[in-house]
Amino acid sequence: MEELILSTQSSVINSQPSKGPQQMSTLPVMEAFYTLQGEGFYQGKAAYFIRLGGCNVECFWCDVKESWDASIHPQKTIDEIITEMKSAISIQLPANILPITVITGGEPLMHNLDKLTTQLQSNNFKTHVETSGSSPLSGKWNWICLSPKKFKQPLPEVFAAADELKVIIYNKSDFKWAEENASQVSANCKLYLQPEWSKANQITPLIIDYIKANPEWQLSLQVHKYLNIR
Ligand code: SF4
Repeated sequence: MEELILSTQSSVINSQPSKGPQQMSTLPVMEAFYTLQGEGFYQGKAAYFIRLGGCNVECFWCDVKESWDASIHPQKTIDEIITEMKSAISIQLPANILPITVITGGEPLMHNLDKLTTQLQSNNFKTHVETSGSSPLSGKWNWICLSPKKFKQPLPEVFAAADELKVIIYNKSDFKWAEENASQVSANCKLYLQPEWSKANQITPLIIDYIKANPEWQLSLQVHKYLNIR
């Protein structure tokens, strides 16, 4: 997921949330792949990404708009998702190293993720989520990366649970917005500023200056894009 700014589109093409009090037995999987985490606190770590379909945030600059409509992506059972993941990773890790799975989207919290994350953890995988925080929190998480969007503000419960706040900077006014978001997370939450990819050349120098003056923040770059890997 990448982030920022509100959409001017009025049409809602995303499917309805498949979330509810019941645990989901299937989920719409747009893609899943084993790669390196390119952003934030776990940047550079091997991670298996599961991108779920469905998003109602509609950032106009979104680079995964094909994720918005959940209905065009195949529904998979939790067992299918985990079997595919084990096959893709296909290495034997030392017992003390738990593989990371990153649930992303789309907006993954549009779905109830209790069953998926419970089964991932029972299979000794760490569960990470990348979310705008605009839908109610479900799931058992080892790490919550909150990347807020202006159009749909995060819910208080997600601010409170976030381990990492990753704010995408698109223009100068976003620094003030970043501080407003930072005031709502816990004292232990890691704070990251990340340039919006299409404006990285102009915005990154501003972020560097900002972090030098406000060292509680750290820089996050989309390293996977610089390396041309997904
Ligand atoms: S929240 Fe949705 S619209 Fe915004 S960047 Fe993420 S997937 Fe795209």
